[in-house]
Amino acid sequence: KVLCAAGSLAVLLAFFCRDTFQPEQLSGARVLLTGASTGIGEQMAYHYATFGAEIVLTARREAVLQEVMEKCLTLGAKKVFYIPADMSSPSEPDRVVQFAVQKLGGLDYLVLNHIGISPFQMWDGDVEHTRWLMQVNFFSYVALATAALPTLEKNHGSMVVVSSLTGKIPTPFTTSYSATKFALDGFFSSLRHELMMQKRNVSITLCILGLIDTAAALEKTRGKVFIAASPAPEAALAIIRGGAARLPELFYPWWLRHVHGLWVLLPSPACCRASIPQRSEPQRP
Ligand code: NDP
Repeated sequence: KVLCAAGSLAVLLAFFCRDTFQPEQLSGARVLLTGASTGIGEQMAYHYATFGAEIVLTARREAVLQEVMEKCLTLGAKKVFYIPADMSSPSEPDRVVQFAVQKLGGLDYLVLNHIGISPFQMWDGDVEHTRWLMQVNFFSYVALATAALPTLEKNHGSMVVVSSLTGKIPTPFTTSYSATKFALDGFFSSLRHELMMQKRNVSITLCILGLIDTAAALEKTRGKVFIAASPAPEAALAIIRGGAARLPELFYPWWLRHVHGLWVLLPSPACCRASIPQRSEPQRP
């Protein structure tokens, strides 16, 4: 009986969660994409281009953005512009959104994907780096979302926020990075509730990614992490589909959802507790 009930539940879930993604729905969609010069962002740019979107690309390196723009045009993008910007500067998010709105006449998607460089190592006490990383990976996301909200609301648009499993499950060697990703979850998941309460039709998709085979990630984790990395083009497509489907959360690869579910149920395994040395009771005279 239990197996039968579980089976029926699985069928029902599959029915309600079935993938209704139609590439045509992105034809002519106006997209502002950050971190678009390399890695997953670059791959997202190529997918959006193939689907016929109108795109504004941003990152710091102008020459690389220009190359990505040219490839997007050959792939079928309706319009492509780029704007170099360093998100460690608090004035850049407003400038970038204004540029995108002016070039595209409004926005349907704001895809927040960039990250500042951070080491994969034990906490070394560098508070300044954490402050800087918070600006790049978190405060600039908040500022970009705030500046884009009016145009997204007008167009019943979507925000897509790229995060990580380390923004759901604390992981060693990622202290500051993990903190910025947890902050994104707190802010954007809370904002999603508020938008729903106010009946404002802007979706927010938080994307929880595992290890992806970008050059930056492989370089950082080489010799330290021994799990297979998933392909960046596939991760990029999963993010785009999740945003188009207006999912609240997307896990890629899909089985990370179960890893996270298990962690919520069993956050502190007995084996970890057993490995912590116990303090001995003070001796009474
Ligand atoms: P990359 O390091 O490959 O790309 C980062 C992008 O951000 C580049 O386009 C870079 O371009 C841009 N960038 C860097 N610094 C700044 C800055 N100060 N201001 C503006 N833009 C900046 O990252 P990935 O593609 O690997 O990661 C993309 C997203 O996916 C991130 O949000 C990351 O947290 C997430 N993710 C990735 C995983 C992975 O294993 N790869 C795992 C989990 C999550 P430029 O240098 O030209 O500025």
